Amino acid sequence: MKKILDVTSPEGHYKAKAWCLECIDDRFREALSELKQRQAWHQFDRTQWAGGAKELALENPEELTPIAEAILGQLAISLKLHDAQEVALKVHEACGAYGDAMPKDREEALRFMEAELRKAADVVHAYLEKLGTPKPVRLFAITFDGVYEVE
Ligand SMILES: [Zn+2]
Repeated sequence: MKKILDVTSPEGHYKAKAWCLECIDDRFREALSELKQRQAWHQFDRTQWAGGAKELALENPEELTPIAEAILGQLAISLKLHDAQEVALKVHEACGAYGDAMPKDREEALRFMEAELRKAADVVHAYLEKLGTPKPVRLFAITFDGVYEVE
């Protein structure tokens, strides 16, 4: 093997301020980065999956799909290794993973995203309860002009 970069990474253990679940879509990198700074999530764990919280937005929190189980497995690892303090679920406007299911109108899209995030939050709360590690679950919808938090 040939070393191609000289770069230093911190070796110490860290506690994650949050476990973030977000879409792979790179257009929102700046918005997500700004959100993390504003929330002072200096260290966080991130799972990226096309659609972000979409795969957790299930009708029945007791009936997990294999993909939902895989994503929640990442949360369990974040909790175990880095004691993640809260969960941040995200979806975004014009997400290709939703395709035509995502409304084109921004107000409608925000309502749709809020409903999806609330379903995903139910799934995460049920999962955390089973693990015996309840945590705050925060919900974010990203648009091309900003970030909204579900209250
Ligand atoms: Zn997306």
